[in-house]
Order: sequence, then C-alpha cells, then structure tokens
Amino acid sequence: MRATEFRSWLSRLDQLNQAQREQLQAQLSSHPDVLSEALAAPERCPHCQAKALRPWGTSHGLARYRCRGCGRTCNALTGTPMARLRHRECWGRYAQALVQSLTVRDAAAFCGVHKNTAFRWRHRFLRLIAEHRAQHESGIVEADETFFLESFKGQRQLPRLARKRGGTAQRKGFTAEQIPVLVVRDRSGRHADFHLEKLNAVHVGAVLRPLLDPDAVLCTDSAAVYHSVTKAAGITHRRLNLRQKRRTDGAFHIQNVNAYDSRLKAWMIPFHGVATKYLANYLGWRRLLERYGNDINPLMCMRESLGYYPLQQLTQT
Ligand SMILES: [Zn+2]
Repeated sequence: MRATEFRSWLSRLDQLNQAQREQLQAQLSSHPDVLSEALAAPERCPHCQAKALRPWGTSHGLARYRCRGCGRTCNALTGTPMARLRHRECWGRYAQALVQSLTVRDAAAFCGVHKNTAFRWRHRFLRLIAEHRAQHESGIVEADETFFLESFKGQRQLPRLARKRGGTAQRKGFTAEQIPVLVVRDRSGRHADFHLEKLNAVHVGAVLRPLLDPDAVLCTDSAAVYHSVTKAAGITHRRLNLRQKRRTDGAFHIQNVNAYDSRLKAWMIPFHGVATKYLANYLGWRRLLERYGNDINPLMCMRESLGYYPLQQLTQT
C-alpha cells in the first residue's frame, strides 16, 4: 500500500464499530510474533520434570534453559508437538489459517509453504488441542452419538476397495464403516466429544463415568446403550423418544448436542472426508473454535497448540 493510501486508510479507523475493531485486532495479531507472545518459560525440565531450570543463553532464536538436576538443556518447545518443526516465522500465520478453518491447500498458499508442510503442521498444531475438552459436566447433560464414514484417506494400502471421494457407506445404518463419536454437553456449555472404537456399553461407559458429576441428569435418545451404562453406574437418566412428536420433555432434550452435530458436520464438508486416524484432531479443532467463538485469535490457538490451558480441563482418556 502506498504511503498516501495508508494515511487515508488510517484516518478512517475511527469510523469502525466495535465488532470491526475486534476483527481488525484479530487480523493484526496474526503477525509472526504470535509465537514469542505465546511462549512461556518452561516451569519444569521436560527431561526429568525437576523444577530446576535456569537461563542458559539462546539457541536457534529461542531462550535456552539448563536443568540443575539432570544437566540437560531445553527450550520452551522441547517436549511439545511443535519441537523441531521448521519455519517458525510462519507459525503465527498458520495459527490464523486454523482460526479460519482453511483447507491444507489454502493454508499452504496463505503461509507460503508446501502443502505437505501445511498438512504436517495441521496435525502437530492440533495434537494437544485434541486433548482439550471438558473434564466434568453437571446438571442437565445431553449426550448423543454421531457417525463419520471410516476413511483411509492418505494411506497407500487400503484395507478395502476405494470409494469415491467423500462417498457413502455400502450399507445404510450402523456398519463397521461408520465411526462413532459421542457428543456430550451440559447446559453451561461444557463440552466433550470422543471418537469411540465401538458404540457399546464398555466404551460409552468408560468416557461417561469420569465425565459426569454425581448431580448430572443424562438426556439421551432411546438407544439401549445409554440405559445400560446409566443403570450400571447409578446415573440419573432421561430417555427421549425421538420417534414421537414430543421431542422434548420440559428442560430435558438433546437439541444442543444435535445442533452441535450439525455445525460439526457442516464445518467438515470443505475437508472432503477426514482420515479416521485424524478424526480426534478435527474434533478438537472444532471444539477450539466453539470454545472461543468470535473471540478466537491466532494467539489463543497457538497457546493451545503448545498445551497452555488450565490443566484441570484435560481429560485422561
Ligand atoms: Zn532435568
């Protein structure tokens, strides 16, 4: 932009409304400095966990620390999924690409990197984000299952005949080709979802039992699996018969999880089917976007990619 143009552009800044200001701020914060802003000095040695780090100069542009316990050095990226990824100067832009839900191809163009790099970054950035979900839910809790078509996208050896891109299942309803995801959300917006190996009492119980607080009332459809899980675990359960006209029973309904499912599915369309082995990363990505809503910016994304979020929210699954 020419200097005169820029001056006239600047002079119109005060005409922006609040929403536009926030949008502008988000764009500006996608500056490459997002990484240095996000990085915090490590508290513990990533090698021996001792709280015995002291500054030890810099290396490759990052502050270095040495552990008085084990004598090894580290930086703020050591032990994170981001360690040893190259082109750090582009990470801020990549975080912006995640905020905007860009496809791999678009993200590569946006950051000026090869598409294989953009693909590798996507899953490194998302690895810890995929672990971040509500750890406890209470009060009225809605749960519902949703399915994703199994996909071996990107794998050279297909365990079955190829389907056309996106594609449809061979048979209708639940088959081995449908990968179950359990979506669980309480009325204060605490949200968790899980890629399950199978939709049965063992797997559903394993994720629901530690998640639900004792006061929780679980609302589900009439699928038998919820009945057996809640009965065995002593969880209060409201079954809604969705075949009947009355889909809600006062405050008891599963409309929030169903709406979430619709948003999730619509959001995934541009990705043209996601590989099953990365499904959990996409689920985490969507949760990230929902957690911050319109306030999301690349700095928040970068912090979460580095695992900086309150640890008590981490679920142990
Ligand atoms: Zn150490």
